[in-house]
Amino acid sequence: MDDHDADPERDGPTERFRIETRSVHAGQAPDPETGALMTPIFANSTYEQDAPGAHRGYEYSRTGNPTRTDLEANLADLENADFGRAFASGMASINTVCNLLEAGDHVVTGNDVYGGTHRLFTQVYEEYDLEFSFVDMTDLEAIEGAFREETELLWLETPTNPLMSIADIEGAAEIAHANDALCAIDNTFATPYLQRPLDLGADIVSHSLTKYLGGHSDVVGGALVTNDPDLDERFGFYQNSVGATPGPFESFLVLRGTKTLPVRMDRHCENAHRVAEFLDSHPDVDRVHYPGLDSHPGHDLAAEQMDDFGGMLSFELDATLEEAGEVVSATEVFTLAESLGGVESLIEQPAPMTHAAIPREERLAAGLSDALIRVSVGIEHADDLVADLEGAIESGLE
Ligand SMILES: *Cc1c(COP(=O)(O)O)cnc(C)c1O
Repeated sequence: MDDHDADPERDGPTERFRIETRSVHAGQAPDPETGALMTPIFANSTYEQDAPGAHRGYEYSRTGNPTRTDLEANLADLENADFGRAFASGMASINTVCNLLEAGDHVVTGNDVYGGTHRLFTQVYEEYDLEFSFVDMTDLEAIEGAFREETELLWLETPTNPLMSIADIEGAAEIAHANDALCAIDNTFATPYLQRPLDLGADIVSHSLTKYLGGHSDVVGGALVTNDPDLDERFGFYQNSVGATPGPFESFLVLRGTKTLPVRMDRHCENAHRVAEFLDSHPDVDRVHYPGLDSHPGHDLAAEQMDDFGGMLSFELDATLEEAGEVVSATEVFTLAESLGGVESLIEQPAPMTHAAIPREERLAAGLSDALIRVSVGIEHADDLVADLEGAIESGLE
């Protein structure tokens, strides 16, 4: 069943409005029966039918649920896409793209792709005879050189984690299409507020809704959006067949989160810029990785394909692994934790945390030093964030 257009009455405003307006309204309209402004949490597994087979758009909530439908329409709208599908997690949405592939197919992807994506590719799908090439995705020639006869998918992230490398989406999509492959972009770090990969030629955009789109560190979810009706139909088939769909409460939380995406992202970007400039001028900091700084190798490209530079950054302390550990443990406002994209500022040390699975030599070769620190800059007052980092560096390195 194609539930996507199950209730066109619920569709809110679309192309006529700017993204700040659409994030509040798209996919939603007051409930025609009650006038309820916010999409209700439709806590139903099943739905009444008027006659056998004659349902009113919904039969069973794995297949389709009205709260999820509104979220899917909202997300599609934000990405300027025709279709959206929500999943139980970002990994479930990435897995769904892998479901499109067959044994013997080859995938080109980035050598600094999200750790969970790397694990899914190498520890799940290589077992099913899919092959993966991991390349420097800031280098279009390296991407092109990795393509083979069997390549069906180019999977990229930009900006990447934790060095905030920038890939050329338009150039990458051209290479994929010249080789009859699909181009999928994981847009989790940028969000549709800052970057819309379908407009740049990508075929599929994937999200972890757990991060900025949810925005409050209180929900796990994923999504795929596309303009291709056949791909959308396949995604719907996998939603129903595999069953990794979000429940109505999760869908509601993300729908609530996307309403404030533009205001949150503006503050995330502004604060991250302040923090990056402070760190850049700090004598104990060797390097800051933030695409908003002129010194970042991806700065010009980011300025072109993004509307702002995002809320994520990392920096290298002139320190040992242990000293950097002291610094990330000494903050008061920044919480020592993995994940990102919530309203609260988080700090972490990739070497013993998010990137601990990578052998040290390999990690160093990839540019991830022992004293590298990653921060997800929240929406608190920038002065408090800067003072917190200043104090933590001082006490950690004393
Ligand atoms: C978190 C994340 C994922 C995985 O999403 P989950 O919701 O945790 O399953 C995928 N890609 C990126 C870039 C992420 O940051």
